[in-house]
Amino acid sequence: MTGNKKHCTLILLAGGCGKRMGSDVPKQFIELNDKPILWYSLRAAEESAIIDECILVIRPEDEEYVRKDIIDKYSFAKVKHIAWAGRERYESVWSGLLKLAGRDWIDLSADEKNETLSDRELHNNIDTDIIFIHDGARPFVSEMIFGNCYDGAVKYGACVAAVKSKDTVKIVDADGKIISTPDRSTVWNMQTPQTFEADLIFDSYRKVMSLDKINITDDAQAVELMSGREVYVVEGDYTNIKVTTPEDLVTAKSFMK
Ligand code: C5P
Repeated sequence: MTGNKKHCTLILLAGGCGKRMGSDVPKQFIELNDKPILWYSLRAAEESAIIDECILVIRPEDEEYVRKDIIDKYSFAKVKHIAWAGRERYESVWSGLLKLAGRDWIDLSADEKNETLSDRELHNNIDTDIIFIHDGARPFVSEMIFGNCYDGAVKYGACVAAVKSKDTVKIVDADGKIISTPDRSTVWNMQTPQTFEADLIFDSYRKVMSLDKINITDDAQAVELMSGREVYVVEGDYTNIKVTTPEDLVTAKSFMK
């Protein structure tokens, strides 16, 4: 980090229901060493010299548990707002962005949502420089990764923590037939945080949300599709896994040791 530090907001996503984990408890609340998985990202943010505040995105039915058994119990003082999750990850991100601008997405009717999307006043309400978007199901985010993302966002405006693919990747059609093999040295696995200048990510998502059919699975895609800006990878870490399926829990427990 060099020069005057910019104000950084972390949008922490914890609003999934964890279908692929096959458990009643959403994956971000499963316990690792007696602490919910979400606790680890909150602690990393709390102890970070880079992250100034967090917007936590959760399902309304998890609010009581999250407030009482996580935020209050462990005194996570950087959680500035709670926002309500949407059905898909990208909706949860948009809800977090709107909360940052002082609005609740879920309460709005369809017409109001459209109005909101084109409302420049919202834009002006965003009082931060850099927005980090992180999956609450990735407990091993570190200050090193926050730092790489910060430097990348300052330098390029948009960056993603990533690691080089260890496996050969194939593009496969709907029948299972291999179509092509990208050169492995050019293939990277995307992680989070995905980190952006605040205006850039807000504008890109605003445009994404005004589309009829949307299918974006990460935030870089919003910027790639909706702005003329380039997105860069910065060094993540092979331990920065997303705990998605039961095997990932075994891996996460071995990393804890
Ligand atoms: O489902 P996926 O693995 O992409 O989830 C990544 C992160 O996004 C998880 O931390 C999950 O809790 C969050 N998420 C969310 N709202 C959704 C879906 C996922 O906040 N509707």
